[in-house]
Amino acid sequence: GRAIREKLGQLYVQEGELEKEHYCRALRLPNRTHPSVPIGDESQARVVELVEFDFKPKGHLEIGESLEIIRQRRLAHVSGHRSYYLRGAGARLQFALQNYTMDFLQKRVTIFASVVYSLDPSRFPDLNLAGTGEVGVADKLFILYSRTVCSSTCYRAETDTGREAWGLYRVHHFNKVEMFSVTSNETGEESSQLLDEFVMLQKEIFSSLTLHFRVLDMPTQELGPPALRKYDIEAWMPGRGSFGEISSASNCTDYQSRRLNILYEENDGNLKYAYTVNATACAVPRTIIAILETHQTKLEFKEGTILVPEVLRHYLGFEVMDKPK
Ligand code: AMP
Repeated sequence: GRAIREKLGQLYVQEGELEKEHYCRALRLPNRTHPSVPIGDESQARVVELVEFDFKPKGHLEIGESLEIIRQRRLAHVSGHRSYYLRGAGARLQFALQNYTMDFLQKRVTIFASVVYSLDPSRFPDLNLAGTGEVGVADKLFILYSRTVCSSTCYRAETDTGREAWGLYRVHHFNKVEMFSVTSNETGEESSQLLDEFVMLQKEIFSSLTLHFRVLDMPTQELGPPALRKYDIEAWMPGRGSFGEISSASNCTDYQSRRLNILYEENDGNLKYAYTVNATACAVPRTIIAILETHQTKLEFKEGTILVPEVLRHYLGFEVMDKPK
């Protein structure tokens, strides 16, 4: 009996270690994908919707420099590669976009206070600056289906070079308004419906900014580990001569909640992992690119003016963005 007890003791320890290893390995597994997701790389993205635009004028950096609202040249000595300043009306445009998006969503979602992160690498070597607002929001007590929106500063260690490193398209530091919600998974459809609802709100916001955009059902290789399904919204950026991603919406099922331990109680009293859904309402720099490049006026372009989308006029206090006097 003693020998069996001793053996059992060893086996329990071994079992504990194996369980831990199993859990750590399982954490590295990506989520499964929705059966309708196109298979393959970015070129396989299925166009769900396309609002065409045939105007082909200048790029946002050229416009921004001429209007003196974006500064990017000769900044490396201040804050390194990919630095930018938004100045004058450009700085106001950033706040106008954030405030407009928050106001737009206020009636539909709950507003969470801004999430601000600070970090001293010499004292906190293991901490990261958050790359997106839902990191802070997801770590709260949730009411199922309560739609939340948060405004946050995002930090991204982007490494690619080439034309994406130019202008505001891929920067290290930017502001973003993000929607987030948790659902149950009783019928299996709740999180898909919520994803559709968020995409509808995104479309309303980008339509109200009178941008020209398309909604893409992203293929498997573009989903990243957390998402079961992801829709990207790409705006036409005439200066780049291509569509550029301005927003994305993901159904992460229980991938995030398993890691954050977000549980809900079912009718029978059992605890289950909730499903999470997130969607960008406004990522400021790329929305600024799309606005500047889309709303440069054909006739007045010689003077380099931008016709401010109607919904932002109240926030900016002017209709046309012109060179400072
Ligand atoms: P993500 O949280 O990675 O899905 O990104 C959401 C949105 O943030 C994207 O659709 C982009 O509009 C914007 N974004 C992501 N990374 C950057 C970056 N490095 N610079 C500027 N905007 C970015």
